[in-house]
Amino acid sequence: MEYQAKQEKAGALRRLRRFVNGLGRARQCCVCGRSFFRFSKFRGGWNSFSPYLNNVKWTGSDFDNFWCPFCRSHDRERHLMLYFDRLGIWEKLAGAAILHLAPEKHLAGRIEACRPARYVKGDLFPSREGVERVDVTQIPYAAASFDWVICNHVLEHVPDDVQALRELWRVLRPGGHAILQTPFASGLEKSLEDPEIADDEKRIEFYGQEDHVRLYGRDLFDRIRGAGFQLTLMKHAECLPAMDARRYGVNPDEPLFLCCRDGVS
Ligand SMILES: [Zn+2]
Repeated sequence: MEYQAKQEKAGALRRLRRFVNGLGRARQCCVCGRSFFRFSKFRGGWNSFSPYLNNVKWTGSDFDNFWCPFCRSHDRERHLMLYFDRLGIWEKLAGAAILHLAPEKHLAGRIEACRPARYVKGDLFPSREGVERVDVTQIPYAAASFDWVICNHVLEHVPDDVQALRELWRVLRPGGHAILQTPFASGLEKSLEDPEIADDEKRIEFYGQEDHVRLYGRDLFDRIRGAGFQLTLMKHAECLPAMDARRYGVNPDEPLFLCCRDGVS
């Protein structure tokens, strides 16, 4: 009973904090449209990051402005939606065949609303209905099956990322596009992948998260190109120049990794 009372009290406090937060106007979520004082931090926010990651200019999520307190969208999901708005990508998804790996809930809802001809959601460990088991290093689909592949913050978790990139290229139709967002360190020439970095504490310190298997450096771009893709890095400042990144809780240093398989489908 005591445990239940504590839980109820904590729940009531959370709701009160959210209510007060919802009175603010400084931040706004592009997914649910709500405005509020602040986004929720990922763990302790940027201040909890290791000096190493700061030194090598780690670029990925915005950990101070991570979760929307109302719809729980996260920053990298919001950022993709803003890029898709700006670049007219939603319109291109209508009638297309799409593979979406580790599918984000809100992004998946928007894609479904575009009425794609075929929409496959896959994850190595599916936990939601409608998501099938897909190992990105062994994608169970024929070559040239998809017009679009969306693989947002996945490669940093995959031990054999070169094989994963080959597979992503293989299942894409010539002329098709892949969105391959991945955190990387712009101050690092070569990716860091060291067998000595084996426990959770070290992985958090050097890779940013306990389930990341490496920290990409600038050679990430050549890895993507090496799999056959034409890579265009669309910068936030060029695509979304009028966008107040802090207000919308996205990282302005994170470019859109727009990858294309050459050819005509
Ligand atoms: Zn929201």
